[in-house]
Amino acid sequence: MEILLSKHWHHVPSEEVVKILGSHPEKGLDLFEVKHRQDRFGLNILTPKKKKGPIRRFLLQFHNPLVYILILAGSVTAWIKDMVDAATIFGVVLINAVVGYIQESKAERAIEALEGTLNTEAVVVRGGKTLHVPSSELVPGDVVSIQSGSKVPADLRLIRSRDLQVAEAALTGESAPVNKDASLLLPEETVLADRQNMVYASTLVTYGQGLGVVTATGDKTEVGRISELISEAQSLETPLTRKITRFSHFLLVAILLLAAATFFIGTVRGQPIIDTFMAAIALAVSAIPEGLPAAVTITLAIGVSRMARRRAIIRKLPAVETLGSTTVICSDKTGTLTQNQMTVQHICTVDTCFDVRGTGYTPKGEIFSPDESFSPDHHRALKQTLEAGMLCNDSELREDPNGEWIAEGDPTEVALIVSAMKSGIHRNELNQQYPRLDVIPFESAYQYMATLHSAGPDQAKIAYVKGAAEVILAKCGHASTGEGVFVPFDISAAFRKVEEMARKGLRILAFAFKEIPAEKESLSHEDISHGLVFLGMQAMIDPPRPEAIAAVKACQDAGINIKMITGDHALTASAIALQLGLKGRMNEEGNGLLAFSGREMAGFSDEELIEAAREAAVFARVSPEQKLRLVEALQARGEVVAMTGDGVNDAPALKQADIGIAMGITGTDVSKEAADMVLTDDNFASIEAAVEEGRGVYDNLIKFIAWALPTNVGQGLVLLASVLAGVELPMLPVQVLWINMTTAGILGIALALEPREENIMNRPPRDPGSPILTGDLLGRILIMGLVILIGAFGLFEWEKLSGTSTAEARTVAVNTVAVVGSFYLLNCRSMTRSIFQLGFFSNPWVHVGILGMILLQMSFTYLPFMNYVMSSAPIQAEDWLRIGGVGLAGYLIVEFEKWIRRRISKRREKWRQAS
Ligand code: ATP
Repeated sequence: MEILLSKHWHHVPSEEVVKILGSHPEKGLDLFEVKHRQDRFGLNILTPKKKKGPIRRFLLQFHNPLVYILILAGSVTAWIKDMVDAATIFGVVLINAVVGYIQESKAERAIEALEGTLNTEAVVVRGGKTLHVPSSELVPGDVVSIQSGSKVPADLRLIRSRDLQVAEAALTGESAPVNKDASLLLPEETVLADRQNMVYASTLVTYGQGLGVVTATGDKTEVGRISELISEAQSLETPLTRKITRFSHFLLVAILLLAAATFFIGTVRGQPIIDTFMAAIALAVSAIPEGLPAAVTITLAIGVSRMARRRAIIRKLPAVETLGSTTVICSDKTGTLTQNQMTVQHICTVDTCFDVRGTGYTPKGEIFSPDESFSPDHHRALKQTLEAGMLCNDSELREDPNGEWIAEGDPTEVALIVSAMKSGIHRNELNQQYPRLDVIPFESAYQYMATLHSAGPDQAKIAYVKGAAEVILAKCGHASTGEGVFVPFDISAAFRKVEEMARKGLRILAFAFKEIPAEKESLSHEDISHGLVFLGMQAMIDPPRPEAIAAVKACQDAGINIKMITGDHALTASAIALQLGLKGRMNEEGNGLLAFSGREMAGFSDEELIEAAREAAVFARVSPEQKLRLVEALQARGEVVAMTGDGVNDAPALKQADIGIAMGITGTDVSKEAADMVLTDDNFASIEAAVEEGRGVYDNLIKFIAWALPTNVGQGLVLLASVLAGVELPMLPVQVLWINMTTAGILGIALALEPREENIMNRPPRDPGSPILTGDLLGRILIMGLVILIGAFGLFEWEKLSGTSTAEARTVAVNTVAVVGSFYLLNCRSMTRSIFQLGFFSNPWVHVGILGMILLQMSFTYLPFMNYVMSSAPIQAEDWLRIGGVGLAGYLIVEFEKWIRRRISKRREKWRQAS
């Protein structure tokens, strides 16, 4: 069958479109046809078009000021006919580019792999059945349903729609959602932005529901046509890499000035131009930390993979860094801090309360009245409450062949199925008796769900409503009793009951019904806005996740405040917060944590909200707009805020937060699009794990910088000193290049793999504004700079004075720098702790690096080829002793400095505790 791929589907009635595409509005395509079309049309994915090709990426490695200097140096060297040196320099440039290319590709691959893990699912009707399939498997003709929160998986001609609104920013740039209507038939010339009967791939459903037939997939979709909009691969830039780039530019200028001064001094002193030029080049090459940008990228990429292993997928690279400086985590309650394993424990009607036995999803357990005043079997309101819970419900509970109960859908709803089954209600029979005619799905903004049912021919219809107690109770005028009699509803008594149960941490849903005139076919919010008959309330437990209790403690010990921001009742939330061990001000009665409700927050001025955000740990019945205000209030106090969200309307708050965190399982596509990080298990403990990793990544970056800068500065000092003293260069440019290549490539990278330090969560968050060059680091640069200067320059002069050849003396100097660098690497495994505290073998890569370094230096020193290329020469055993002595001395000096620092900070801590 040839499918007509028209661009004008909006101009064709939907039944016609379905027919042309060989599909069926209720049954969809059959599976055989799907397979056939998949072979023909391929996967429903966009081919990334704007990625830089490998050649361009490789050439870009040469776009670097250091490489320019090296190319200049190589050309000058070639010009003065020192071909071996020139070839070496060009060789180094080439190797450098290859290494940079490989590292960058690895980092990019690590990040790209994560993007793949976040593929969306589509709900599709095939062969008459509703299936969840990866969006990539859709084909033209598939009948797809979309609803509030989902990302439109392909271009669709709408068949049905209900209050459908779609944000088409990805396509048209217009961020305000537009209304869609399946029933419209539009003129052929209607422009894309006005095609209200179509929805397009990559746009986001912000409201309502719809059903549509796929008209185009993959690159054939409208978004696929606009190639510029197809997302480029993740940028590897973060605030830190930008800071480092700025810092290296500054360093470059400083070093070039120094090199120019060297050249000038040498020339004034009458030294040969070529020698002074070489000295200047050597100085420039030695002092520029060329490994730095690559090391930062690699460390970040390693962090991203480590986080993914701990169930936190990073969508935007800067989050890795920001996580390390997070000061407040605002978390949802249900499912993130709690288990989302609901069990109904109490059912209260207007005249009595019943208890429910049994836990989990197994529908076995008794419903009984504790004082035996009522028999559950004959209580009308109880029966109707349970029936309402089952009818006004979109979730499923199935028994698999092994007798296990499998829940599908919203755990709150599953709990209601379980409680109804415990009383012997059969879902199929109930559905047959009261077929569903319409539904108003649950939306956080309304906090209720309603369904319309037929009660038989010519009978009034019944609307069942379930939702948050405050919302439902306020709509009720009467209540139904055990005898099924309607009495005036005492709302205050009902609220007292709600509070009593909520104080125990129970989650409460209220149920009501209303008769609807028989002629009505559909249900609107208006129909159920008042005059409901109260049936009862079901109260369920949702225990805290044990791992969340531990994670909350870990975060609080790490100086991170936790705020619970929930849609649930304030008292329920406050009780759960206490069980979780959240720290915050107590309420005035002193029996729970201070909690503010959305209604209270609405009355707060910005200043009052800032104060409330500081004091309280619990914010309940919070609307998405209030979430946004809360983030802003916290940020106004200089906090670095991580915020979780799952709903459609959470996107602005997620974007505003320093780290927006979406839920992988229950989160909407809209929230995932807006987030910086997605939790694959929706678990608070994974946020804590990510913070821990974030701190580890930043630590390792600092360790690398603390290692690289002093080593570079030390080498620069050696060369500067020789120029100032007017003596021979202790290291030639090629030799300096050799050290930089080997040390940075082999030693430095080992620090990126350093495991997290144990005490990482026992210290306060890092100040994101803190500079790279702290006082401590400057001190370290000074110490190590002097060690290298005295060691390398000193030993070079010593050798010269004892009459050894220049080549030998230089080899000693080069080896000194390499050995000091290796010892210093052991120092840098922790900024404060000693190797005994860390464990000698806890990072085997350090030893691999040092071993590699030894082998390379041996070949540098003893291989005739290397002697020829690098102008080195074999040295004596006692030289090695002296070199090792310098390395060890440097190591001990830094350890001593760390010891002093540890003592000072211990004293400070004692002093702080005493005061
Ligand atoms: P959190 O924001 O911490 O995840 P939550 O799940 O309680 O908390 P919402 O999903 O916004 O937040 O729910 C708010 C309230 O709406 C709940 O306290 C409950 O009373 C009610 N509710 C939740 N789920 C449903 C549902 N499926 N049908 C009807 N009402 C519901």
